[in-house]
Amino acid sequence: MSKEQPGLFGEWGESEKERFVAEPENIYYMPFLPGLAPDEAYPEIETIMELEAAARGCCRCRLRETCQQVVFADGPHDAQIMFIGEGPGQDEDIQGKPFVGRAGQLLDKIMQAAEIQRNEVYISNVVKCRPPGNRLPNPDEVKECQKYLEAQIRIIKPAIIVCLGSMASQTVIDPKVRITRIRGSWLLRQGIKIMPTYHPAALLRNPGYKRPTWEDFKLIRDEYKKVKG
Ligand code: SF4
Repeated sequence: MSKEQPGLFGEWGESEKERFVAEPENIYYMPFLPGLAPDEAYPEIETIMELEAAARGCCRCRLRETCQQVVFADGPHDAQIMFIGEGPGQDEDIQGKPFVGRAGQLLDKIMQAAEIQRNEVYISNVVKCRPPGNRLPNPDEVKECQKYLEAQIRIIKPAIIVCLGSMASQTVIDPKVRITRIRGSWLLRQGIKIMPTYHPAALLRNPGYKRPTWEDFKLIRDEYKKVKG
């Protein structure tokens, strides 16, 4: 069962609501991610290639000072399913692709078991630059980089989003959610089904998460089969 989430107008301040009523022609769309104003996530950019070029030249937060390169995303621009992780690690920073290290290899195996082809999935992260020492991204770094994520979701319009781990779930669903509580249940927002599950790196640390993750991936597999028809 999917749980319909209320529209994000509820999270707008009064001035944003007034502006929406007064100048609807200047509001391009309702943001998908919580906490973003309608016009701050590159609304003028219409293609993933343009967006990627913007991100590659980005120095909007300190993470760009220490990483080797911006790891933007991997996968087709018309994907029906999108996976979102936390941020690039060392292997991703070197190779310039998300989910290529140990956690990525485990994710590949899980996808294979769930009959989901990696080359059909658009994979990205909440932050596009590697945090030094693989620390958690800071809230100001997430706040800045989620504008790219918002634009990726707007342009790709996937039918399904899979949030891998706490940070992705808190960025996409709600900053207050706990992954242990919400994993395994579908949420619906703006016509997109969202499934939170554990990050594959968490499975490497805690093998006890493997079974619940597989249960989640069976749900994802079944839903993705329906989407593909
Ligand atoms: S993490 Fe995101 S916001 Fe920060 S510099 Fe990299 S691309 Fe820009």
